[in-house]
Amino acid sequence: MKKYAILLLIALMPVFTNAQELSDLEKEILERIDANHAEQLDFLETNVNINSGTMNFDGVRRIGENYIEAFGDLGFETEWVNQDHVNRAGHFFAEQEGNSGRKILLIGHLDTVFEEDSPFQEFEMLDENTAKGPGVNDMKAGNVMILYAIKALKEAGAIPDAQIIVALTGDEEDAGTPRSESREHLIEAAKRSDVGLGFETASGFNYAVVARRASYSWLLETTGKQAHSSGIFSESTGAGSVYEASRIVNSFYEELREENLTYNVGVMIGGNEVTYDEENMRGTVSGKTNIVPKKTIVHGGIRFLTMEQGERAFDRMEEIASENLPNTTASLRINEGGYPPMEPTEGNMALLAMLDELSQDMGLGEVEPFDPAKRGAADISFVANYIDGLDGLGAMGSGAHGPNETVNLETYKELTKRAALLIYRIVNEE
Ligand SMILES: [Zn+2]
Repeated sequence: MKKYAILLLIALMPVFTNAQELSDLEKEILERIDANHAEQLDFLETNVNINSGTMNFDGVRRIGENYIEAFGDLGFETEWVNQDHVNRAGHFFAEQEGNSGRKILLIGHLDTVFEEDSPFQEFEMLDENTAKGPGVNDMKAGNVMILYAIKALKEAGAIPDAQIIVALTGDEEDAGTPRSESREHLIEAAKRSDVGLGFETASGFNYAVVARRASYSWLLETTGKQAHSSGIFSESTGAGSVYEASRIVNSFYEELREENLTYNVGVMIGGNEVTYDEENMRGTVSGKTNIVPKKTIVHGGIRFLTMEQGERAFDRMEEIASENLPNTTASLRINEGGYPPMEPTEGNMALLAMLDELSQDMGLGEVEPFDPAKRGAADISFVANYIDGLDGLGAMGSGAHGPNETVNLETYKELTKRAALLIYRIVNEE
C-alpha cells in the first residue's frame, strides 16, 4: 500500500514541480493574459474582417492604424514606414527603449494572400475552438499574440527597462523589390537587437523553427548552331540548344542531390526563335522538326539550408553547365536577391533550449526543432544573419493560403502565455 502511494506521488510530481518553476511575477503575467483573452479574440476578429491582401494598400494601412493605437496605448513609440517606392503599403513598427537584458525584435506581417477580389473575406466561428478566416492563421493571430503578450508583460510591470521592437511588415506574402529596400527597416531593427522571434504559424506546442532554407532562382540559357536537322550530331552542326539544356538539367537531377537541398525547373522553353519574360515567367517559341534549335531557356528555383551548401551547389551547377556538347554554349545565372537562409546556429539552438525549458516549466511538454525542409522562407530569414532567432511561435491552425484557413483557439491562449514568458525570460537574460 505504501509503495503504491509513493509511485503515485512520483507520477504526480511533474505537475507540482511545474507549478513551482514559474516565479510569482510569471504567474501574474499569465493571469493578465487570462484577463485580456476575450478582448484578444475580439481584436483578432476585427482585424480578420479588414481585408489586407498585399496589394490592398488601404486595408493593410487600416490594420496598421489599429496597431498604432494599441501599441501607443502601451507606451510604445509607433511608426508607419511608407513603402510607395517599392509599390507596397508600408510597415508597422513600434518600439520601447530600454537597457536591461537582451534586446528583442518581434516579427509579424499584416498582409495576407487574399486580395479584395477573393471570395474569402470574413471571420467565422466554426465551433467554440475553431475560427475560420482569411489570414487568421497566417498570420493575424500571430500578430495579435505579440500585442497581447506585450500587454500582459506591461500590465505586470515585467519589462520596465527592456528594448523591444515590434515589426509587422506589410508585404511578407509578396515582398516589394528590390528586397534590399523593402526589408531595409527590418534589417536595421535587427542590427540594433540581439534576438528575433517570428510569430508565423506554429507547428504544435512541441516544435519551433530554428532554421529556414534560402530560396533563390536561376536562369540557364543554351545556344546551338541553327542548321538542317539531317546534320545533327555531325562535327559541323553539333547537338543543338535543346539537347544541351536537357543534358544540364538531367545532370542537375542526377548529381546535385543532398539533404536539405532541392531545386526545381519551373519553365523550359527551347526552339529556333525564343522570347522569355523572366519576371512574369512567360514566353514564346517557334521551331521546326527539321531545324536544329538555336536557343533554349530554363528557369528554376533552388533551396538550401546554409550559404556554404548553396555556394557548393552553385559551383557544381556552373561546372555542369560548362561541359558543353559539340557546337553549343551554356550560361547559367544564379539570381541574388532571393530569401537568404536562416541557418541553424548555436544561438538559435540556445533559444530553443530556453523555450524547451519554459515549456516544460509550464507543463506544455518538450520543444524540438522543426524540419527546415518542411517550411518555406519568411521575413525572419532576412535578419537571421544579424541576430539569434526562433520562428513558428504564432498560432496553430490549418489550411493557410487556402479557402478553408482556420486557427485553433483551444491552444491559442496557452501559446500566447508561453510567448509572453519567453519574451520575459529573454529580456531578463544578461
Ligand atoms: Zn506568413
